[in-house]
Formats: sequence, structure tokens, C-alpha cells
Amino acid sequence: MKHITEIETTQILDLNQMDLCFVAEVKRRSGVEINQCWHCQSCAGGCPFVLAMDYPPNRVIRLVQLGLRKEALESSGIWICVGCNTCSIQCPNSIDIPAVNDALRQIALEEGVAVGEPNILNFHRAVLQSIERHGRSHKLEIMLRYKLKKHDWFRDMTVGLKMFAKRKLELLPSRTKKIADVRRLFEPKSTV
Ligand code: SF4
Ligand code: SF4
Repeated sequence: MKHITEIETTQILDLNQMDLCFVAEVKRRSGVEINQCWHCQSCAGGCPFVLAMDYPPNRVIRLVQLGLRKEALESSGIWICVGCNTCSIQCPNSIDIPAVNDALRQIALEEGVAVGEPNILNFHRAVLQSIERHGRSHKLEIMLRYKLKKHDWFRDMTVGLKMFAKRKLELLPSRTKKIADVRRLFEPKSTV
């Protein structure tokens, strides 16, 4: 995680690159009143993954408020967030940080911004591909697709074998009966 002095230096350096429309754009996509954040840092204090993030959740909110678009969209924190909602529950203003992070991820993907945690994006894609194919997740397929992208076949082999032995990994996927309904969710939205 970046130290406060590093973050403040970055903000001072980039103030002339402020995008004044950014906060409104993130609010429109997430439905979150971002300017209600008063930076008490309760969210960062409760987040179980904060040490793995470059910016803690309250700092990402601050970057959005300041219109520091590039820094917010390139943040690793928006990808490391698992959406557990611990932060929102502790927030005195009920700010839905996972919704903000979702909006930032969408914008980052649409704008082709370098993803802060590409392996996490690959994992998300593997899960979604499995759901699109079968209507539910197939863990073995997800692991294989993910490993294929990561070119890392052996690191979790022991865990995989243990799961297999305990029948936590099914060899063949099971498919939901209403697969057509599920696949419709993956169709591109009509713009009409
Ligand atoms: S807990 Fe809520 S108000 Fe406090 S810093 Fe986090 S988002 Fe802002
Ligand atoms: S939802 Fe995301 S940011 Fe909030 S506590 Fe969980 S991991 Fe941290």
C-alpha cells in the first residue's frame, strides 16, 4: 500500500489533470453519492484486503472526487476488492464502495486502461465463461482456463489434488435446464 506522503505527492503533481466530470460519471454508473464521503477511513480500517491494495478504499473515493481519472482507473485496489461489503457496513454514510469499484472496472475496460491486476480480470472472465456455457460455475474448468492464461500449471497442484480427492472438484460440468435464459444475460444490450 502507498504511504500517505506518496499519495499526497501524486495528487499535488496531477491536479492539473483533474477531470471535473469524472465524479458525476461514476455516480451515474454506480448510483453512489461519492461526495458524501468525509474520509473517516473506517472503510480502510475494516477491509480485509487493504494491505494488498495500492490505494485503500477511501483513497480511491478521494481520487474520484478529485477527478484523478487515470490514477483511479489504474488502481489495483478496484480489482482486488472482492465485494464483501465490510467497508460499506462500517461506513457512517453507507457508501457502497463495491458498486463504485464495479463502475471503475467497467470504465477501465471500456477505455482500454491497463488493468491493475490482470490475473484477477482473467479469473473473472473464466468464471463468466463457465456460467455462460453451463448456466453455473464448473470449478475445474475455471481453474484450467485461468491456468491457461496465467501459464502457471503447477503452483496450486497440491491443493487441486486434495480438492479432487475430497470430491470438491467435479470432472464433468452439470448444466442448468434453463441454459437459454442464462445465455440471454450475456447477449449484448440493444442500444435502441
Ligand atoms: S467509511 Fe465511508 S465516509 Fe468513511 S472514508 Fe470510507 S467511504 Fe468515506
Ligand atoms: S468490499 Fe472491497 S473494499 Fe470493501 S471491505 Fe470488501 S474487499 Fe475491501
